[in-house]
This record gives sequence, structure tokens and C-alpha cells, in this order.
Amino acid sequence: MKRITVAKGDGIGPEIMDATLSIIKAAGAQIEVDEIEVGEKVYLAGNTAGIAKESWDIIRKNKIFLKAPITTPQGGGYKSLNVTTRKFLGLYANIRPCMSLHPFVKTKHPILDMVIVRENEEDLYAGIEHQQTDEVVQCLKLISRPGCEKIVRYAFEYAKQYGRKKVTCFTKDNIMKQTDGLFHQVFDEIAKEYPTIENEHWIIDIGAAKMADTPEIFDVIVMPNLYGDVLSDVAAQIAGSVGLAGSANIGEECAMFEAIHGSAPRRAGQNMANPSGLLQGAIQMLTHIGQTEVAEKVQNAWLTTIEQGIHTYDIFKEGVSKQKVGTKEFAEAVIKNLGQKPSQLKSVSYAKEAILHLPKYQRKPLMKKELQGVDLFVHWSGTSADELAAIIKQINMDDVQLSMITNRGIKVYPDGFPETFCTDHWRCRFKPIEGKTISKQNIIQLLNAAEEKNIDIIKTENLYAFDGKPAFSLGQGQ
Ligand code: NAD
Repeated sequence: MKRITVAKGDGIGPEIMDATLSIIKAAGAQIEVDEIEVGEKVYLAGNTAGIAKESWDIIRKNKIFLKAPITTPQGGGYKSLNVTTRKFLGLYANIRPCMSLHPFVKTKHPILDMVIVRENEEDLYAGIEHQQTDEVVQCLKLISRPGCEKIVRYAFEYAKQYGRKKVTCFTKDNIMKQTDGLFHQVFDEIAKEYPTIENEHWIIDIGAAKMADTPEIFDVIVMPNLYGDVLSDVAAQIAGSVGLAGSANIGEECAMFEAIHGSAPRRAGQNMANPSGLLQGAIQMLTHIGQTEVAEKVQNAWLTTIEQGIHTYDIFKEGVSKQKVGTKEFAEAVIKNLGQKPSQLKSVSYAKEAILHLPKYQRKPLMKKELQGVDLFVHWSGTSADELAAIIKQINMDDVQLSMITNRGIKVYPDGFPETFCTDHWRCRFKPIEGKTISKQNIIQLLNAAEEKNIDIIKTENLYAFDGKPAFSLGQGQ
């Protein structure tokens, strides 16, 4: 018997949760439920996080959390409970299986059966943003080796467990050679450990276009946070409906399972909502906790029900559907079909050994790190890069000198183009002259000299080589 935490949420949440729990219990799920209150009522009672401290304790104790959608009240100041939960509990992997239910649910892609594996914690979602000059703001894109290793390994282990044939990686490493470059590099490293699973990498732009056009060529797709956020919605929608997809958020200790849709407040309390999205989340939960036989039984009964044309209003279509039902009646139909397998849709069969055994991240031996230069970022409202270079050269030292200036990454000094548009945010790169080295002390001297000359330094970035390999971007055009 497994104790799980359940939150019935807002809007259609309680109805679809009751339906989901009734189905999985009828199928023999060995679960005991601790219910907690999250969402609108908690927000409106003055708790801006939407969840009480005692509820966190229950979630952390049980480790498995099945959550119905919640309503985030309008107006500022309320924090998204989903984002907070993912971050607090270290839920690094977001798994969204999307499949076509053709010809029973309308889709332009009759053959679609793919799983999006999205990194859930880092990338541009680290939430580190600053305004640095009048004209320029920045958002830090952080990609870590542990983050990449964990998510990529998860994708391959998932593929292995579910008998999937191929894992594809999407990045934009032709442009972001360090960040997306690391993700791609780790993908190639880990792919070698799974010789029986095919692997490939696509640049995200053409990959996304292919995914929207010919999704049948993909199987499991793993990607960094932002791309995964966007493309997992696209994948669910082109499969038929976002209303049919579930989502698992997996961490090393805890995991949260949900539907991908929201609380649809306009449909609340009318016994109309489709419980399928949450049920799909619950099926992911059952396989995660090792109750694969129950998961399999529920999934096959659900496919059978869809195939019988017993549909809620959102997927009901004259001529295809046979019977329009409410939330409760849909659940009853699935329960009646427990033990059945679909005849036209592909039935599922999950491996007995369900829990993914992922090794803890092992830190690699430290690399040899060598300082090779420094970028000083300067707030300056002039327009001529040559003029700025003349000002900056006042702080040149004997061994460490200005080597280049860029504006929004484009080299504007030396030999810039007058056509290049410049903002008030300049990167001035200092490097040691041939045969000399640069130290942290030199950087402090540069900063002191800049301060004396009233040069407004807004940020510095050290340039390093790791194990002899320079690990910083060149100026575009350099
Ligand atoms: P929504 O997904 O709740 O609803 C959009 C529309 O899709 C609904 O009006 C309804 O017609 C349809 N729909 C969605 N789920 C359905 C279902 N199970 N059965 C039948 N029809 C369904 O999106 P929204 O209207 O943008 O958001 C409503 C609220 O949900 C907001 O407060 C939002 O913040 C919240 N939300 C919560 C989550 C979550 O808790 N995970 C996710 C997204 C949105």
C-alpha cells in the first residue's frame, strides 16, 4: 500500500479527481490518500504561495503527489504553485506522452506517439534577470552538467522501460555553443551507454517544424526547459487535444503528477469535464510507484472507452462519437471496461520492473581552469565604438590590453561597421598581450582605474579555459 498526497484543486479539479481516483481504485491501485487543500481558497485566505506549511510536510513525507488543476487568482502577488513545487522538490524532469487516438479523436496526425522529456529546473527559467543600463535588460541562461546528465539519462531510461526505439535531442547549439552545446555534448556522451536505442540530434528550429509536420518520425524527444515548455504544448495539441494529456514531474526524491490543462472554471460543477488528462497523469504515477499492472489495466480500459465512442463534450463529434457522457458516466464506462483491451487502438503493455533506477549524479574530477581574460561591461550613451575605445584604452595596463568591443554580441571595435546599430550596453574584452598572463589582481586594477576615469562598469565576466580549451564565446564577426 502506497500513501500518496492528493489535492483536488479548483474549478473542474474536484470532479476530475473523484473520477480519476474511482477508476484507479476500481482497477486495484494499492494507494492510501492524504488530502491537502491548495489553490484559490488558500491564495485568497492571504497565503501568496497557495499552499500551507503543513501541506508541504505531507507532500514531503509521502513523496508522491497527484494534483488537480488550480486557479491562480487574477492580479499580482500570487506565486505559481506549479513553479514553486517543481523548484522546491527538485522535480527536474517533466514527462509528457502525447499520442493520437485516430480515428476516434480528430487529429491531422493519425500516426503520432511521442513523449516529450523537458528539463524542468534550469535554463532561462532560473529566473535571474537584471536591468543593467537604460536600454538593456538580461536574463541568465544557466545550463549545468548535472542538470543535463539527469534529464538525458532519464530520457534514455524512460525509452528503455517503455520499449521506445529512439531518443531525439533538440537544441540550438549552432548559436549557443556553450549552453546548448553542453546539453548536446552530454546527450552524445550518455547516448553511447544505450547502444540499443537509436539517437539523433536536431537543431530546434527545423526539429520543431518537423515535429509539427511529421510527428510520426519522432519517439522520445529530450530538450532544455524553454524549448520543452513550448513544444510539449504543441505536441499535445496536434495529438488531438491538450485536454487528453497528462504530465509527470519527477525528482530524485519526490514526484508530482497532473493533467496539463487548467481548472476550466466555466465548466466547473456541471459534470461536464473530461477526466482523461488527470487520469493519464495518474497512470504515469502508477507506473512510477511500481504498480504497472494496474496502470496497464487502466490505460487499456481508457483506450477501449475512447474507441467505443463514449466521449465527453470536448471530444464529442457527430458521426464518430456514439454517446455523449458527463465526467461521472465516463468514469463508470472506464471502470466497466477494466480488463478489456482496445481492438483498433494499440493496447499497452508495461514492463514489470517499472521504477527507473537512475544513478545519483557523480561529480567529475575538477578541470584545470586558467584565466585568459576579462569582459568589462560598460554603460555608455555615446554611439561611436572608436570613441569608446579611446576612453577605455586609458585603463590599459602594460600586459593587459583592450582587444575588442562588442555591442549586443556583435564586434564593433576594431574594424566595426558604421551601419551596426548600437545600444548603451558595451562589452569591452581585455586580454594579456602575447606571452603574458592575466590575474585576478589585474582585474581589480582595471576596475579601480575605470572608476577613477568615471567609466561605468555594470558587470564583469571572467574568461576561462578549462583543460586548455577556451570556454567563452567570440564576438560575432571576430
Ligand atoms: P484551461 O485549460 O483551464 O481551460 C481552457 C478551456 O479548455 C476551458 O474553457 C475548457 O473549454 C477546455 N478544457 C480544459 N480542460 C478541460 C477538460 N478536462 N474537459 C473539458 N474541457 C476542458 O485554461 P485557462 O482557462 O487558461 O485557465 C483557467 C485557470 O486554470 C487559470 O486560473 C489558470 O491559471 C489555471 N491553470 C492551472 C494549471 C494547473 O494547475 N496545472 C494549468 C494551466 C492553467
